[in-house]
Amino acid sequence: MDIKEQIFILVKLQKIETEARGLKSTLNNVAKKYDAFDAELREFGQNIDNEVFLLDELKKQYRLYESDVQMNLEHIKKSQASLRTIKTNREYQSLLKQIDEFNVKNVRIEDEMLEFLDRMDKAESNIAAKKNEYSMLEDRIMSDKEMIKQETEHGNKRLAQLDMDFNDVSGRITPELLDKYEMVKKQKRGMAIVPVNDAVCGGCNMNIPPQMYNELQRCDSLMFCPNCQRMIYWQQ
Ligand SMILES: [Zn+2]
Repeated sequence: MDIKEQIFILVKLQKIETEARGLKSTLNNVAKKYDAFDAELREFGQNIDNEVFLLDELKKQYRLYESDVQMNLEHIKKSQASLRTIKTNREYQSLLKQIDEFNVKNVRIEDEMLEFLDRMDKAESNIAAKKNEYSMLEDRIMSDKEMIKQETEHGNKRLAQLDMDFNDVSGRITPELLDKYEMVKKQKRGMAIVPVNDAVCGGCNMNIPPQMYNELQRCDSLMFCPNCQRMIYWQQ
């Protein structure tokens, strides 16, 4: 096999590797997205749980207020009953004052309770809206995940194909050339063989010296860019 053919196969090999590398990075990003979806949903769910917890606290406090009011009413009732058995005016006035104080207390608590009712209402409708939003998010994420799953399956199939292509193509290159290719690839972290167009290296965009360019066009030996040291070939 002449060098021209070998170079042609190397280019093919590089194309396979480039596609596989891009595909792997895409699949990796897709997997990250998948995890991010789970995290997003979990966070949203925790947010709702927190609000439910706060609502429960409000309800607890509200019930405490309720029993306070009830207790005060009992006091008032008892005092009112005592009023009938009171002998002196002083005791009578003192009891009236007590009743009045319990009434004032209850008015204050009931004001507070109204405010709590308002807060509970708001919290409840907020939670309902968020639960609704949550289920919409869940639906969206489920269909996005399904899409990702398909994309991943498709990508993995393509990767397996590329892997087979790689084995097939690399088997047609001489071991020496393949070694050189791998070495340059490692140094350059990617493209090891690049075309030269109008005497310009496709890897580093520098000009190839005229004499070297002439030689390159003969395609009878493997050549390297004097600037970036990549393998080069003439692109007609
Ligand atoms: Zn170059």
